[in-house]
Amino acid sequence: MDKSEKQDKRERAKERREKRRQEISLIRSIPYSDHQRWWSADTIAVVTGANRGIGFEIAHQLGLHGLTVVLTSRETAVGEEAAKVLQEGGLKVVFHQLDVIDHESINTFCKWIKDNYGGIDILINNAGFNHNVGSENSVELAEKVIATNYFGTKNMIKAAIPLMRPNNAGARIVSVSSRLGRLNGRKNRISNDELRQQLEDVESLSEEKIDAMVNKFLEQVKDGSWTSGGWPQNNTDYALSKLAVNAHTRLVARELSGRPEGEKIYINCYCPGWVKTAMTGWAGQVTTEEGADTALWLSLLPDMRISGKFFAERREIHF
Ligand code: NDP
Repeated sequence: MDKSEKQDKRERAKERREKRRQEISLIRSIPYSDHQRWWSADTIAVVTGANRGIGFEIAHQLGLHGLTVVLTSRETAVGEEAAKVLQEGGLKVVFHQLDVIDHESINTFCKWIKDNYGGIDILINNAGFNHNVGSENSVELAEKVIATNYFGTKNMIKAAIPLMRPNNAGARIVSVSSRLGRLNGRKNRISNDELRQQLEDVESLSEEKIDAMVNKFLEQVKDGSWTSGGWPQNNTDYALSKLAVNAHTRLVARELSGRPEGEKIYINCYCPGWVKTAMTGWAGQVTTEEGADTALWLSLLPDMRISGKFFAERREIHF
């Protein structure tokens, strides 16, 4: 493909994205009708890392839909302040401290949820960390990135599943992931075909395989050999953490698929787009309202019955 063909292709992709954005903003203006509402003010939605950015906006929008939102944050003071803003807007929002990489914090949180609400209907795994902005690619904080994005999400899923309340519409788990972590994307993928195939095959996928992959990367970061490890080239640690989240989503969906009717739990992940938040240095292309939209859609969709999939702008995309 020559330079002008590449340019044309990029332009067409940009036009398609813009068209989709316009379609979505139209769809978003159509309210959910009453007969679609499976939730009520007693529906409990937990959002991690909700003191700011996309998480705050997801909490806000869930509150606007009339659910009880448990806004969580690792810092109590900022979390309480964020919850107060939503409470002052008349929304049913409560705060609780939650650090997704601190097992004691998770245990305390789960006990509090159980004692006060009996369980959870919706879990949004939004808490995340990325050290690099733009084209930087330092792995200096790789351990924190992998711990927060992958192990933190996994910790929350493990802790929340036993708490998820039976419900005819199905309980929901939604993880905020990223297109940067696509297994088979045209750009930024793992170069090792065998590893890709292993991660692709959901039937033989296991937690050990995903953990082994991220741990191998972290070992290579320590001994300095990661640059020739065939890992994603752009935002390497972050991309790998989200790739692991995506693979884990498919694995958990498989594990949960045998649950009986009335006790279903649907788990999916999505990419919010490039969002104007602290994480991107406010350089993103879309607002937090737009970035939160697919999380709301996956959480509230009636007749969900979709699990183990990856979405962006309310559409399924390839892993
Ligand atoms: P922000 O940096 O604004 O927010 C990240 C949130 O995660 C903060 O509330 C932060 O808390 C919280 N957090 C970090 N570590 C922990 C932890 N250990 N326990 C609990 N909370 C924690 O970023 P965004 O709003 O942009 O990101 C939200 C999610 O969206 C992330 O998962 C991110 O990877 C994902 N995403 C974002 C994109 C974007 O373009 N912005 C693109 C694709 C995905 P604190 O304030 O205490 O640091």
